[in-house]
Formats: sequence, structure tokens, C-alpha cells
Amino acid sequence: MTQRYEKVALIGLGLIASSMFWAMKRDAVAGTVSGYARSAETRETARRIGLCDEVCESAEEAVRDADLVVLAVPVGAMSAVAQAIAPHLKTGATVTDVGSVKATVIETVSPHIPEGVHFVPAHPMAGTEHSGPESGFATLFDNRWCLIVPTEGSDEPAVARLEGYWQALGANTERMEVGHHDLVCAVVSHVPHLIAYTMVGVADDLRRVSDQEVIKFSAAGFRDFTRIAASDPTMWRDVFLTNKEATIEILGRFTEELMALQRAIRTGDGEQLHAYFTHTRAIRRGILDAGQDTDAPDFGRVKVER
Ligand code: NAP
Repeated sequence: MTQRYEKVALIGLGLIASSMFWAMKRDAVAGTVSGYARSAETRETARRIGLCDEVCESAEEAVRDADLVVLAVPVGAMSAVAQAIAPHLKTGATVTDVGSVKATVIETVSPHIPEGVHFVPAHPMAGTEHSGPESGFATLFDNRWCLIVPTEGSDEPAVARLEGYWQALGANTERMEVGHHDLVCAVVSHVPHLIAYTMVGVADDLRRVSDQEVIKFSAAGFRDFTRIAASDPTMWRDVFLTNKEATIEILGRFTEELMALQRAIRTGDGEQLHAYFTHTRAIRRGILDAGQDTDAPDFGRVKVER
């Protein structure tokens, strides 16, 4: 039996929630799924495309009788949503979230969780630069990692059940301590996004390189920065505002490395540059070996014949 929860409520109907819905439907992981999004427009779109068995007019209504409630809104909105739904949660239910930062979410959501309701934070390490109810797809989590970050008081059976749920959605799960989670994510996701945003901003500032040239020749590495830099501004603003410490620590390390490479270039130290790039190439190999990306040329982009 793949069904893990009788009723699941999705609060927020963007990329992550909609992908969860399609994955739940693919493998009958939940009995019924209710959903709620802040704007009437998103709720309307959800109804039109059949996203959720029932789209509700309030979060309170969506969570009624739910066995699992998923907070899938930007990190900065989690606390207010938790506060609004708290009195309407069923005893014995589990509340989880999919936020990209965990310390802040735990700190701001935990106080609202009523006695008899379990809170088990989680973070699927999968995404795209697209957002909104129409951006989700059933295979988003397949063979990706979902990090489970139990709080001190998390109930073991509730944690194990949520792990089983994410596995049923196609993900591999691993438990992680909250501080370590935020540091790991600063390294593998948050700072790389900041660098991409910066690089695209720099290119835009360079008046000596015309906009047309930037667009025309962007296949030379820049294009992948622009893809990442197209990610949702609200989500990423909240990530940096809430994962401040780890981001600043990793940015400090990044700046040191950059300075070392800058010096190697200035002094013509080819040996250092070659050794550095050999090391980074090995890291890429490791990612491919772990099945977390494709080795296809041009990152597997499909060529469109015109
Ligand atoms: P998204 O596509 O932008 O969707 C966000 C959803 O949250 C929308 O339905 C939006 O409603 C709703 N929302 C926004 N502010 C709200 C508020 N104040 N109250 C109630 N609902 C609100 O976002 P997403 O990419 O699915 O991200 C959701 C969460 O997953 C975030 O916490 C993010 O950090 C995390 N996450 C994202 C990724 C990724 O790559 N995108 C990966 C892993 C985890 P409206 O449409 O009505 O505005």
C-alpha cells in the first residue's frame, strides 16, 4: 500500500506543493488532497488545472481533518500561516514544511503548534527556476534528497511516517540537525544562487558589453547563471534574510578563494589554477556518479530544430 496519509492539506500552491500533488496522485500516496493559496487567481488556476481534490477559500478550511499539513509558502510567511491554522488542526495530525531554511522556520512555527499535533520540518532538495501552480510536475522529487530536520520534541513515529511519505513521492531521505542543514544549504544552494544573481547583475552593469552581445553569446557559461537568477524573488529574499549567519560565513570563504584565484591570475600562477580546476572537476564527477545530474553535453538540453 502506498497511501501514507488519509488527507493531506497543501498550504501554498506553487512549484513545490503542485509537484507534491502530482507525485501523490501518481502513486496514490494520499487519500484526498485539499489546498489553499493566498490569491484568488492562484486558487482559480488550481481549480482549472485540477490541482488538489478540493481548493478551499481559507487555510483554516483546508486543514480541517487533515492528517498531514504541508506549509509550502515562502519562509517569511510560515509563522503567520501556522498561527492562522493552529486552532483548526486535528489532534494527532502532523504539520510539516518545505522551507529552504530550517532554524528560522522551527523558531517561528513551533510556538504555534498546539499540544497533540506533531511538527516535523523537512526540505526537499529539488526545484527549478519556475514558480506558481502551473510549474509543478510529478517527477520533481524522483531520486532527489529530502532532508528531514526533527525538532527536539518531534515524535519518532510521526518522523518515520513523514520519511515514508517522502520516499513514496520518489525522494531519498536523510535526517539532519538544524544548524548543519542551514550550513549545508548555504554551500550547495543559497550562496550559488547569490553568486548567480550577482553575475547577472554585473553583466547588466557592464556598458562596454552590449545587451545584445550578452544575450547572443550567453551559451558560454553565462546562460546557466541567468537560469538560476530567474528564480522567484520573494522566496530568495526570504532565504537570505533568514539564513543570514550561514550565508555570510560561506560568502566569507568564497571571497577568500576568489581572492586566491585572482592573485594566481595576476601573478601568472598557472600551476595553482590548473590544480584548482582539476579538483573542482573531480567534484563534478562525484555529483554525476551520485546520479544528481546528467553528463549529457550542454547539461542535457534538448536541441530544437527550426
Ligand atoms: P512558489 O511557486 O512561489 O509558491 C508559493 C506559494 O505560496 C504560492 O501559492 C503563494 O500564493 C503562497 N504564498 C506566498 N505568500 C503567502 C502568504 N503570505 N500567505 C499564504 N500563502 C502565501 O514557491 P515554491 O517554489 O513552491 O516554494 C515554496 C517553499 O518551498 C518556500 O519556502 C521555498 O523556500 C521552498 N523550496 C523551494 C524550492 C525551489 O527551488 N523553488 C526548493 C525547495 C524548497 P499566491 O500564488 O496566491 O501568491
